[in-house]
Amino acid sequence: MTASLHRIVVLATGGTIAGSARSAASSAQYQAATVPVSDLVQAVPALADVARIEAEQVAQVDSKDMSFDLWARLAARVAHWSAAEDVAGIVITHGTDTLEETAMFLHLTQAAPVPVVLTAAMRPSTSLSADGPLNLLDAVRVAANPAARGKGVLVVLNQQIHAARDAAKLHTSAVDAFGSPIAGPLGFIQDACVRFTRTPVGLESPRLPVPETWPMVEIVASYAQPGTVMVDALTSAGAKGIVVAASGNGSIHETLAGALANAAGAGVAVVRSSRTGAGHVAIPARPVPAAGIFVSAGDLNPCKARVLLLLALAADPAQGVDAVRLQATFSAY
Ligand code: ASP
Repeated sequence: MTASLHRIVVLATGGTIAGSARSAASSAQYQAATVPVSDLVQAVPALADVARIEAEQVAQVDSKDMSFDLWARLAARVAHWSAAEDVAGIVITHGTDTLEETAMFLHLTQAAPVPVVLTAAMRPSTSLSADGPLNLLDAVRVAANPAARGKGVLVVLNQQIHAARDAAKLHTSAVDAFGSPIAGPLGFIQDACVRFTRTPVGLESPRLPVPETWPMVEIVASYAQPGTVMVDALTSAGAKGIVVAASGNGSIHETLAGALANAAGAGVAVVRSSRTGAGHVAIPARPVPAAGIFVSAGDLNPCKARVLLLLALAADPAQGVDAVRLQATFSAY
């Protein structure tokens, strides 16, 4: 290790990358979030050739249990370390299950002057052919690379670099579970070579503040013969926003659309995303909240659209009853 290497901070939050199993041959029976970050770093001696690593255990959770509190804590640690003069980049280790939501949250809130790179693993650290060590090494390589600056928050897995807003988990168990379904990856890592092949979008507008209080924003799906109970209950419970995991190009069953129009009439912001997993939901000429014509989430999947709706409504609640402005927000990020 030489003093001329960049200083990279690894913030650990848990997940399968920090998981361990009784049997190395099984990836199904294991406990996520058990191995401390110091051990994860030690297990990859090649890191010492790439950067001076500083590791911090921010949390130790299975990412299925992600919370707003942990998001806020993570944002504070990113802000802290990115302001430190000699820190060249930040790597966050995370579980794969909700990585795309945390990535979206950081994409929308962080304007860090240094690269912020999330990574994870599909196989626990004790498994045969664990993917965590290479993913961690690649994430540090990207975080230390000057070409990663100004590209927003990044996601690195399986030798690919993704924009945080685009990355999504697309498979339950495959090592190549992550993709950017519409835009494709931003670049790739081959051995020590980090290469970007396109530039990310959604970085021009000012980042949104981390909320002090979070509005209630939930997701409902449209499918054959849906009930209206959930939408009605959310409206009575004081929900400020509902994202619809709509069918196809944002189509919503007429029964559900009626309940959603009532919700919109009561001041609930309604956003249409698609449950298909890829493609844009067409933006209506006029996003009148009626007859199934609600704000379009564009190419954001329902979980990512929810993160944007949470932050947008927390920053400016009046957008909830101004579909034109809310549509502009969805088009900006
Ligand atoms: N349940 C794990 C998590 O999200 C899965 C993983 O990391 O692959 O924390």
